[in-house]
Order: sequence, then C-alpha cells, then structure tokens
Amino acid sequence: MSKRQHIVAGNWKMNKDYEEGRALALEIVEKLQPSETIMVLGTPYIHLKGVAHIISDINNLYLAAQNCHQEDSGAYTGEISTDMLRSVGCTYVILGHSERREYFQESDELIAAKVSQAIRHGLKPIFCCGELLQTREAGAQEAVVGEQVKKGLFNLTPEEFSQVVIAYEPVWAIGTGKTASPDQAQEMHAFIRGLLAAQYGDEAAQATSILYGGSVKPDNAQEIFSKTDVDGGLIGGASLKANDFIAIANSF
Ligand code: PEP
Repeated sequence: MSKRQHIVAGNWKMNKDYEEGRALALEIVEKLQPSETIMVLGTPYIHLKGVAHIISDINNLYLAAQNCHQEDSGAYTGEISTDMLRSVGCTYVILGHSERREYFQESDELIAAKVSQAIRHGLKPIFCCGELLQTREAGAQEAVVGEQVKKGLFNLTPEEFSQVVIAYEPVWAIGTGKTASPDQAQEMHAFIRGLLAAQYGDEAAQATSILYGGSVKPDNAQEIFSKTDVDGGLIGGASLKANDFIAIANSF
C-alpha cells in the first residue's frame, strides 16, 4: 500500500435542501466506522456551516466547497471567497470540475487562478481534469489532460503544490453510469504522476493523491481503487446515499 493519503470525496452538486443535507451528514456520521481513509463532503454553500458542525468531532471527515472566487473580496455579486469558506470550516475546495468548465466556461487560466487563491488562503484544492468522449475516441486524452494539468497547476511553487489533490474524471463517465475501466484509470493516473514527477520531482509526485471520478459505485470501487496509482475517488451520485458513500470509502 502506498503512503499516499486515500481520499474519498463526495460531490453533492446542486442537490439537497438544508434539512435533507443535514439528514445526510448526520446519517454518514452515525454509520461511519473509524478508518484511515479521508472522507470529504463537498456540499452546496448553504450546507457548509451546518455540516461543519455535524462533522466537527469526527476523525478524517472534512468539508469541501464546490467552487470559490479567485479574488480576496469585493464587488462580485453572488460569489464566495476563500476566506469565507475557511470561516465556515472548509478544508478543501473542488476546482475545475468539468461541469464548471462546460456550463460556466471556466478556462484553464481561471482555474489556475482559483487554485492559487485557494492555496494562499489555506484551502486544499481538489483539482479536476478529464477528457471528453470524442477526445478519447481520437486517442488524444493524454494530450488534453496533460495540458489541463500543466496550465492548471504548474505555476505553483513546490510548497504550494504539496497542498493539491488531483481528480481524474473522464467527462464521458460522469453521471452516465459508464466508468473508465480500472486499466484506463491506472494508465491515465500513471501518466499524470509522470508529469508531476517531471515538474516537481519524484518524491512530490509519489506523495500526491490522485483520485478517480466517474460513476464510482459500491460495486466497482474496489477494483478501481486496487490500481497502484488510484488513491481514491471523487463521487457524485453515489455520495448522496450514506450507505453507498460509506461502502465506497470502505473499499480500500
Ligand atoms: C462527479 O461529478 O465528480 C462525478 C464523478 O459524478 P458521478 O459519480 O455521478 O459520475
């Protein structure tokens, strides 16, 4: 087993009203067994403070936001700053998710700015990357994911980079019920780790957790997580059910 942290992060996306979110967090806390695996709840903004309160005494259970703004503060109506996220107990922030890249036109440059801002303000980014179906069909997945990783992360200093968690999420596998095969995941994770080694050195690359995301469920998690370079998962749909989310986290 690697010495890298195993991380299973849930992305609730735009689901659950306030009471439903509280109920889900309470159920997770109630059913969770002590474990070395780090679990992260990526909730909508309105849940953060309430969920922080519910999970505050639980070891290895942390809170993530699903986005942040790249500036400190100011006239950015509707936006949320990294300091605000810290003030309600966030440890992580999911950045560069394919839904933000696609529906909110987030560019690699904007995502890089958010990643830097998050780290400077004490948050750990869960940086998402991944290719579209047509990119994979054209065999260009490494070129595309490589560019996302370089543009999104390689302006960081080594010290800053040590705060980063990477999530490889092939877009064609998100919410579709299709998963990358364990070998496809391993191949891309090894490729990403190679890029990290070339930029930040082997030790830093070996210490970086790279999660797989895309239709991970209790019945496929174990096989995917068994791969050498897969250090956990970013979980969408299955993170909305306490039993499924916990079963996935217990798959190591
Ligand atoms: C995600 O949105 O990050 C994700 C992986 O979703 P799902 O697990 O539902 O495919």
